[in-house]
Amino acid sequence: MTEKLYYKDSHISSFEAKVISCVEKDGCWSVELDRTAFFPEGGGQPGDTGLLGSVRVLDTQEADGHIFHVADSPLEVGLSVTCSLDWDLRFRRMQHHTGEHIVSGLIHSLCGFDNVGFHLGEDDVTMDFSGELTRDELDRVELLANEAVYKDIPIVTLFPSPVSLPRLSYRSKLELTENVRLVRIPGYDLCACCAPHVKRTGEIGMIKLTDFMRHRGGVRVHLLAGLSAFEDCRVKYKNISAISAALSAPQNDTANAVDRIKKELADAKQEAVKLRGDLISLKAASLKETDGNICLFEPGLDTRMMRDLCNAGTAVCSGVCAVFTGSDIGGYKYIIGSRTTDLREQARAINEALSGRGGGSPEMIQGSVSAPRSEIEQFFK
Ligand SMILES: [Zn+2]
Repeated sequence: MTEKLYYKDSHISSFEAKVISCVEKDGCWSVELDRTAFFPEGGGQPGDTGLLGSVRVLDTQEADGHIFHVADSPLEVGLSVTCSLDWDLRFRRMQHHTGEHIVSGLIHSLCGFDNVGFHLGEDDVTMDFSGELTRDELDRVELLANEAVYKDIPIVTLFPSPVSLPRLSYRSKLELTENVRLVRIPGYDLCACCAPHVKRTGEIGMIKLTDFMRHRGGVRVHLLAGLSAFEDCRVKYKNISAISAALSAPQNDTANAVDRIKKELADAKQEAVKLRGDLISLKAASLKETDGNICLFEPGLDTRMMRDLCNAGTAVCSGVCAVFTGSDIGGYKYIIGSRTTDLREQARAINEALSGRGGGSPEMIQGSVSAPRSEIEQFFK
């Protein structure tokens, strides 16, 4: 049976071990060692990766009490190898995992909700709780969790006897009866867990609840701890610096500045619509009597403006008045009117000539075309 070094000391990042078996499996090599600090996937924490000599370990799994290092190359049985974990990754996982214990313990004691789901991803940790929480409640939990970090409390692992176990009150997702490993963070949490954790809460560095949402009758909370929380802070700082400079607003007042700009933009849009309406009325009033067709292009018209302009043109021309809005790139919308031509009969020819679609009444048709402005103008000449 492999000696589990990660239970002796969660901070062993390199060690010497002997290969006791090596078999090919699913295109990889399943390597067993006489001792290992590689933690096999469990308790919501992924299996460790690293090196056995020069052979890469892609994953670590446990089955039937044996720990298998999933390696990309074979190793000779009996060989002694120097092994090393991908320590940065493992340490981040322990920071996240221990942070999760503190937060789950606090939510359990303050609100009575259970942690019913835990996912420790590469970029983010999610925890699902059995009841709903507000942002204010999570802010309070986050503050208390960070106080636990500053207190630098030693984390204790216990293997209680089957006699003493039922007397203990601890969090657990499973009904466990034997070989139960409990992880105690005094004052904050007591939880059945098989994974390695940091030795003292101070190693977590920082706990940030970055987001939350309703989920299956409770909430899903996103957490970042330690180095990952620090890196997230850096990214957010870069973003807020750029936004602050762009808005000429202090960093902590950017949300208000954005609200002000959104309101100014909405007012400006409303004003632009009104001015465009005034401009179209003036254009409509200035149209001269014409013997033939009128073809007009105006940007940014809504349907009402197009119809008003078309009606004004139709009244003063003997052919058709065609109003277009849009661009050569995105295509044009049209409204075409006439007092003298049956447009329902003409619609097919117009749409065919200008790669368009649309229709309407004998007096007015509307639709869209993808032909460029030059072709449209040529058509109505
Ligand atoms: Zn744990």
